[in-house]
Amino acid sequence: MTPEEMLATDRAHVWHPYAPMPSGTPPYPVVAAEGVRLRLADGRDLVDGMSSWWAAIHGYRHPALDRAVTEQLGRMSHVMFGGLTHEPAVRLARSLVELTPPGLEHVFLCDSGSVSVEVAIKMSLQYQRGRGRPERRRLATWRGGYHGDTFHPMSVCDPEGGMHHLWGDVLPRQVFVAEPPAGFDAPVDPGYEAALVEAVERHAGELAAVIVEPVVQGAGGMRFHHPHYLKVLREITSRHGVLLIFDEIATGFGRTGRWFAAEHAGVTPDVMCVGKALTGGYLTLAAALCTPEVAEGISATGVLAHGPTFMANPLACAAANASIELLRAGRWAEDVRRISAGLRAGLGPLAGAPGVRDVRVLGAIGVVQLGHEVNLPAATAAAVDRGVWLRPFRDLIYTMPPYVTGDEDLARITSGIAAAVAAG
Ligand code: PLP
Repeated sequence: MTPEEMLATDRAHVWHPYAPMPSGTPPYPVVAAEGVRLRLADGRDLVDGMSSWWAAIHGYRHPALDRAVTEQLGRMSHVMFGGLTHEPAVRLARSLVELTPPGLEHVFLCDSGSVSVEVAIKMSLQYQRGRGRPERRRLATWRGGYHGDTFHPMSVCDPEGGMHHLWGDVLPRQVFVAEPPAGFDAPVDPGYEAALVEAVERHAGELAAVIVEPVVQGAGGMRFHHPHYLKVLREITSRHGVLLIFDEIATGFGRTGRWFAAEHAGVTPDVMCVGKALTGGYLTLAAALCTPEVAEGISATGVLAHGPTFMANPLACAAANASIELLRAGRWAEDVRRISAGLRAGLGPLAGAPGVRDVRVLGAIGVVQLGHEVNLPAATAAAVDRGVWLRPFRDLIYTMPPYVTGDEDLARITSGIAAAVAAG
């Protein structure tokens, strides 16, 4: 296919994320990816500032990941998980239990982040039934959150500014509480803390669970907050028999400087979702983990009625095992600190630039918030012209690069962001 043919066929037939049909602005055809670079069909190389949406933490075509998937392909690419088991899945479950906060013991492997949130929600509703509290079927969450695109996760996404406002009248009605004050290092606000406690207490009798993204609210607005509020949630939910679900799909596997963002607060949720970087971005895999107490509650009602066809896909599990081995053996924490410093140095000067409302960095995440909606095609093209791949949304131009991004490439990313800010 020529690039022109491909784009015409793409426009006529292929749906892209959050896009109309036929699609508006043409996508950039990509033909290969290696290290931290994407190769476009016209021969240009772009440094990937997005890690393919938080996932490709080791970059592309990493020899250890390539090898793990190829070796697994030689043994078996997929088998059903009902009535069968295999070592890639069992090894992965053991690693996740070892690495996640203490107390999470049981692992449900599924095929996308949204499905893992569905499973976490199902676990919480079923747990409450098992404990004799079937009336507890609502969820509470912070405004400004994002938990996925299937129906129950959509119901806990931000109801106004978020992506799913179209569905307000069909989604389950959940309890929304104001998001925590902005800033990972901001002083704790006792007034906010009291309001948070009061909201959970007021609704406790009807709540199955509280679900939040710990420390970083991602696609709902790229906001950071103080870990203290996670401790507050842990205390108040435990006191009222409400489960606490942490959605670590974006934050997991080192992105905030800890293996998992929950560690900043030193708390264990009852249920935790991971995905995205789980396989180093190689294949689609996610997991919902829970405590023995949750599993016992569920068992009192029978089975957990969930079982996707591609549950625990061996290729994806092999990639995840290799990615975790790389993290365990490697220097990701040092790299995340280095990237954090590079992002502060490179993005800090944008703080006073025209149209810029805020600049913030946490771990290997850098965000420039504008005072207006980004002109997406113009901002993207300006970054591409600088050899950088970015995908801004709403008023946000941001990056979460692969941990293996070197200093020169990082400087290229921050200059690409500056160009996007000027154009967008
Ligand atoms: N939860 C969070 C915090 C996310 O950032 C995302 C994806 O961006 C999801 C859930 C949904 O994951 P997936 O896109 O794999 O379904």
